[in-house]
Amino acid sequence: MTDLDRNAILKEMGITQWVLRDQVGRGLSAQEAPIKQGKPVPEDVSALASEHAPGKDQPEEGAASSVKLTDQTTSVEPPQATAITLESLRAEVAGCTACKLSESRMQTVFGEGPNQADWLFVGEAPGQQEDRQGKPFVGRAGGLLTQMIRALDKSREQVFIANTLKCRPPNNRDPLPDELKACEAYLLKQIELIQPKVMVALGRISAQALLKSDQPLGKLRGQVYQYGPNKIPLIVTYHPAYLLRQPGDKGKVWEDLLLAHRQLPV
Ligand code: SF4
Repeated sequence: MTDLDRNAILKEMGITQWVLRDQVGRGLSAQEAPIKQGKPVPEDVSALASEHAPGKDQPEEGAASSVKLTDQTTSVEPPQATAITLESLRAEVAGCTACKLSESRMQTVFGEGPNQADWLFVGEAPGQQEDRQGKPFVGRAGGLLTQMIRALDKSREQVFIANTLKCRPPNNRDPLPDELKACEAYLLKQIELIQPKVMVALGRISAQALLKSDQPLGKLRGQVYQYGPNKIPLIVTYHPAYLLRQPGDKGKVWEDLLLAHRQLPV
């Protein structure tokens, strides 16, 4: 991708002040300095109140303010996710009935990308279009995510895109704690098999689930977390569906993506 192409994509995202200068992206412009590793950026909690889910392009009434995984129980035994390849895990997920979402889904949405990928993007749950097509991040939010990935000089086919839940919650409501708990083993196994070098949590639900936190997204952004036993760098940013409603925050997302990019090994 040429600088001209990338600038066009950034312009499409509403971003003109940052440039990822070299092809492998190691050199960043001095203007991308405002984010420091480990130092929270000024929060935007009010914006977070309206931030919402993945695959959902429309606002949702009554969205829960946080995900709590630790004080909930589930009535079913969570799956073990014993698969040793992504394909066998995909088949395991396709037959899963571990939570009630299996009753209303059209199909599971496992995620897509190479068997091993440097970048792993994790959203919330499939929306209506994803449920129909069996693919993550289709529709307008998916298009914006694709633009974000291209701005990083990657194609969508070079990264892995997954969700915390593999089945669509009815009416695109927020995932329930017992659903997140039931589905967690699949995402953990995906991470283990894909071996990403950097992870990006897209939106509050994903960030809170991965970090086992009830902090608002505005407090979780701007830091580098070490995820899991392999200490994979994890960055939190806004969900593309939120950006469709709040395009003025695209610059913050670009800051987050640059922070994630800097975590890749040289
Ligand atoms: Fe199974 Fe996850 Fe679907 Fe629930 S959401 S039925 S745990 S695959």
